[in-house]
Amino acid sequence: MDHFLYRDGALFAEDVPLSEIAAAVGTPFYVYSTATLLRHYTVLDEALAGTDHLVCYAMKAASNQAILKTLAQAGAGMDVVSGGEYLRAKAAGVPGERIVFSGIGKTADEIRMALTGGIRQFNVESEPEMEVLNRVAGEVGVTAPITIRVNPDVDAKTHAKIATGKSENKFGIPIARAREVYAMAAAMEHLEVIGIDVHIGSQLTDLAPFELAYQKVAELTGILRADGHNIRRLDLGGGLGIPYARSNEAPPLPVEYGAMVQRTVGHLGCEIEIEPGRLIAGNAGCMISEVIYVKSGEGRDFLILDGAMNDLIRPAMYEAHHDIVPVIEPEPGVEQVPYDIVGPVCESGDTFAKQRMMPPLTAGDLVAFRSAGAYGAVMSSEYNTRPLIPEVLVKGDQYAVIRRRPTFDEMINRDSIPEWL
Ligand SMILES: *Cc1c(COP(=O)(O)O)cnc(C)c1O
Repeated sequence: MDHFLYRDGALFAEDVPLSEIAAAVGTPFYVYSTATLLRHYTVLDEALAGTDHLVCYAMKAASNQAILKTLAQAGAGMDVVSGGEYLRAKAAGVPGERIVFSGIGKTADEIRMALTGGIRQFNVESEPEMEVLNRVAGEVGVTAPITIRVNPDVDAKTHAKIATGKSENKFGIPIARAREVYAMAAAMEHLEVIGIDVHIGSQLTDLAPFELAYQKVAELTGILRADGHNIRRLDLGGGLGIPYARSNEAPPLPVEYGAMVQRTVGHLGCEIEIEPGRLIAGNAGCMISEVIYVKSGEGRDFLILDGAMNDLIRPAMYEAHHDIVPVIEPEPGVEQVPYDIVGPVCESGDTFAKQRMMPPLTAGDLVAFRSAGAYGAVMSSEYNTRPLIPEVLVKGDQYAVIRRRPTFDEMINRDSIPEWL
């Protein structure tokens, strides 16, 4: 459920007409709904009620300070995957004890930053990382709380680029080697082993792979405890999918996920962490774009938009589907026509949808890309010297620009010319 609905023939974000924001900030832009962000956070939080738990928002999905602050004020922790994200979370007011540090390539500098600034735990992904962490913690004079990310060799049945829990993926340590690696960690002076971490992929639309992975984690918990490790926290990762095509997708509900978590690991008495990104932010954001031209091609018509692959890369990168709807609601019964919906970038990959049925549109019309809140703005670039598009946050009848569009001068002046030129 989200708060982007038609009212009196026009698409609104909560109580603000999107055409009003478009007139004020120009297109293309991203717009997020506060009520939707909070609703998704709350539904997940409540799905784990009854268990000691923390929802750590995977902020790589959408990391604007205003979004982080909205969620942090609701009680969310953060899952970060870089030093930059760590600083972003801190800047938004998230205390270190609510920040989890994930990722396979943490540098010594990033580790030092987190140890100095405070951290809930590191999710360690390899033996060499463990050694660096132990050394840096010794230098800083602290003990680093860790879980070790295990790779359960489970097929998440999602797009290959966002599957992370198969043995061929670069993530975690093979679960078969867990006892050995936990023993190594326990022997390190400046580490404290507190739990187990697992994250098998993103956009999972079936609970079965999660359940398989969590069963393996439960079994491993017993084994590691028998080996003498004080396993008291389980980080179960993120990955819950969202409906991108509203007409025919029904991913598992958070409440079903929560019940499955209880069923698989609830009896262990561990504190539970989850790291949802997409589920919180995905359907809380849209990208709004304007039709520049309607071009008649060989047997097909192209809708050429002012938004492009550099603004929203998911279709080009993952063949992802986004529902695209007109901002002015079509009259009932209007006959739909097929369009190839494309951006202006000089690559054929800059295609959002092929032969998509839409009501007839003309230049100047606005369209909304639904479900663009996660892995949208954060993955954008300035390819083709196209400015990063603004982000706008709506709350009730208010809205605010939370990242403005840079000027061309700002973009150009980021380069510097060597003195020999
Ligand atoms: C990307 C990522 C997440 C979030 O995944 P979603 O599918 O957005 O929920 C959580 N944990 C880790 C370690 C990740 O890399």
